[in-house]
Amino acid sequence: MDARQIAALLSYAATLDSRVRRIMATDEQAAATIRTWAQALADVPAMAEAAGWDAGRAVRRYYEQANGDRSAQFRPIEPADLLAAWAPHRAELMNRHTDPLPATDPDDVAQWRAELLGTRAAVATGQTAPSTHRELTSGIHPAIAARLASIGSYIPADTRQQLAPYRPMRAAREAAVAAGHPDPLSVPCPCQWCRAPEGEPCRSRRLGRRTTPHPTRADLAAAEAA
Ligand SMILES: [Zn+2]
Repeated sequence: MDARQIAALLSYAATLDSRVRRIMATDEQAAATIRTWAQALADVPAMAEAAGWDAGRAVRRYYEQANGDRSAQFRPIEPADLLAAWAPHRAELMNRHTDPLPATDPDDVAQWRAELLGTRAAVATGQTAPSTHRELTSGIHPAIAARLASIGSYIPADTRQQLAPYRPMRAAREAAVAAGHPDPLSVPCPCQWCRAPEGEPCRSRRLGRRTTPHPTRADLAAAEAA
C-alpha cells in the first residue's frame, strides 16, 4: 500500500476506534503515522481479488474480534495486525502459483531469473493473480521456435515431446532443426526410386514411409543450407 491507500485505511480505522482518531489528530501526527504504516505495509496490497483480500475488511475483522472488549488489553490496530492478517492470503497465493516460463531469452540468465523473480514478487504482493498453469507454448529458444514454426509445427513443446513416439518422422525432423542441423525435408529427396517431394517423408520400398530421411537427402539439405 502506498501513502494514499494507507491514509484511506487509517481514516476508516478512525471511524471504528477513537484512539486511532487521536493519533491522527494533527497534520504532523497523521503524516508520521501514515509514514510508519506505509513503510511497514509496503508489500501488503490494499486489495487482491485473487486472494480474497481487502485491507479495509481486515481492519473491520480486527475490531470485530474485540467483541465488545473495551479493556486496555484490546489495543488499537497496528501494522503488525495487518501483516498477520495478510500472511495466510499471501501463502495461499504462493501455493497456487506455478512459475510461468519467462518470455526472456533463456540464454540471458540474469534477465531470465529477474523476470521469474519479478513475477513471483508481483504475486506475493498481490499485484498479479497467481499463474496456475504451466505455459506450454513458451520455453523454447525464439530462434528455434521460429524455425519450428517455419516447418509448420504449432504444437506446444511439452505436447510435442509426448507425441514424439507416435510421430517419428516429424520428431526426427524437429530434432534435426532443434539440434541446429538443416531440415532434410526442406528439399526433395534425390534418391533414385524414392523421389519424395519437398515436405514429404522419404519412402521405403518395403515399409512405406521411412522415419528417417535418406542420407543423400540430408546431405543435399546440408549443401543447400551452406
Ligand atoms: Zn528418400
